[in-house]
Amino acid sequence: MPSHQRFDKVLIANRGEVALRVVRACCEMGLKTVVVCSEADRDSAYVKSADQSICIGPSSASKSYLNQNAILLAARLSGAGAVHPGYGFLSENTSFSAAVEKAGLTFIGPDASAIATMGDKIAAKSAMIAAGVPCVPGPDTELPSEPEAIRAIAAGIGYPVIVKAAGGGGGRGMRVVSAEAELQEAVALTREEARKAFGTPALYMEKFLQHPRHIEIQVLCDTHGNAVWLGHRDCSMQRRHQKVVEEAPAPGISETLIGPVGEACVKACQQIGYRGVGTFEFLYEDGAFYFIEMNTRLQVEHPVTEETSGVDIVQQQLRVAQGEALSMAQVDVTCAGHAIECRINAEDPMTFMPSAGVITALELPKGEGVRVDTHVEAGYKVSPYYDSLIAKLIVHGQDRADAMQRTRSALASFKLEGIATNLPLLRELFEDAAFAEGETDIHYLEKWLKTRGAA
Ligand code: ADP
Repeated sequence: MPSHQRFDKVLIANRGEVALRVVRACCEMGLKTVVVCSEADRDSAYVKSADQSICIGPSSASKSYLNQNAILLAARLSGAGAVHPGYGFLSENTSFSAAVEKAGLTFIGPDASAIATMGDKIAAKSAMIAAGVPCVPGPDTELPSEPEAIRAIAAGIGYPVIVKAAGGGGGRGMRVVSAEAELQEAVALTREEARKAFGTPALYMEKFLQHPRHIEIQVLCDTHGNAVWLGHRDCSMQRRHQKVVEEAPAPGISETLIGPVGEACVKACQQIGYRGVGTFEFLYEDGAFYFIEMNTRLQVEHPVTEETSGVDIVQQQLRVAQGEALSMAQVDVTCAGHAIECRINAEDPMTFMPSAGVITALELPKGEGVRVDTHVEAGYKVSPYYDSLIAKLIVHGQDRADAMQRTRSALASFKLEGIATNLPLLRELFEDAAFAEGETDIHYLEKWLKTRGAA
C-alpha cells in the first residue's frame, strides 16, 4: 500500500474544464492549487483561478500536458504534495503514476499496478471474471497465432465476433468479423495495427453484440478496503465511440437487475486493492450486462452521478488520496431524480470539423437544476491544439421527462457566438421522439445523423 501523507497543495496536470473543476473542489476543501499550462492556455482566465500557475511548454500537448518531466519539475518547484491528472492526457499512464509516487508525491488515482492491470484488457477481463463480474463471451486469454486455433475459438464463440487489441483504447484497435472467410485477414490486420499503435500485438476475441446499450457503474474506494458504487449511467448516445449525451440513472433498468452487477464491481475493487474513483463500462443487451473495460480515473460524465447521488466525486477523490476512510457506506448511497449531461463541442454541427477562434458572446443558461461546467467565457480563444470539448451542460430534474424538458429549455437559452458548436445538433436531438422515449442503443445517434444527412 503506497504511503498517503497528507498534502495541502495539489498540482493539476490537465487543462480546461476539468482543471477548473479540480481547482474548485480543492478550494472548497481549503487546499492550495497549482495549475500547469501550455503557452496556448497561459492567458486563459481559468488558469488564473488557481493559486499558482506554471507554464510547462509549447502548445502541442506532447510538449506540455504529456511532458512528464516538466510536470514533475513544476510539482517540485511549487511544493505541491499531490498531483491530480484529470481525465485524458496522463491520467491512465502507468509510468506517470509510478513517477509521481517515486518523487514522494501522492498520485490522485489508483496505484500504477491497478492502472496497468486495467489498461491491459485481457488482464482486466481475467480480474473481472475472478470477481464474478459478467463479461462478454470469449476467452480471457491472448489469441494464439495458429490459424486453426483461431478458427476454433471463433467457432466456439459463434459469429459475429470482434477481434480486439489487449492494449487498445480510444475506440481503436478492434475489428468485427461476421464470417469465417474474413477471419484470418482481420486478425492479421488488427495484430499489425496493435503492434504499431499500442506497442503490443496481443489480441483477444469475444462475441460481437449487435444492438447493445452502453451502461456504466461509478465506484469510489478508499485505502482501508471500503468501496461503494454510486449508481449507474447510460452513455449510449455516441458518435464514433465518443459520448455526446450521458444520463443517470440508465433508463428502464431495474435496481434488482443492476444491483448484483454493482455489488460485483465493488467486490472486484476490493480484490484488486483499487483506490480512488473508477468506472466499470458494460454493454447491455437483451437483459444482460457484459463488462468491456474499466476506466481508472475521473470521467467527463461524472457530474450526472454527482447530481443524482449528491456526492461530490472530486472532493471524495481528494479525501481518499489523503488517506481518509469513506464517510459513507453502501446503505447511505441514495440516488434521486434524473440528470443529463450534454457535451458542448467546438465543432461544426453538420460536418463535425473542429472549429477554433474567439468566443465573441457567451450567455450560460440558468435556472433550477441547471449546472454548466466550463472554463470558457466571452473573449476566450478556442485553440486548435486540444479536444473540442468546451463546456458541459448538466441538468437535474425530478424524473427523466422533467430533466429532458429542462435540458431543452437550457439548450434554447445557451448563447455562444463567434465559433461553431454542436448546440444546434443537440437542440434537434432533444426533439427526437425515440431519444425522448429512452433506451436507444449505441448505434442510434449515428443512424439518426444519417437520416439528418450529416454522418
Ligand atoms: P476503448 O478502450 O477503445 O474505448 P472498448 O472496449 O471500451 O474500447 O470498446 C469501445 C466501443 O467498441 C464500445 O463502446 C462498443 O461500442 C464497441 N465494442 C467493444 N466491444 C464490443 C463487443 N464485444 N460487441 C459490440 N461492440 C463492442
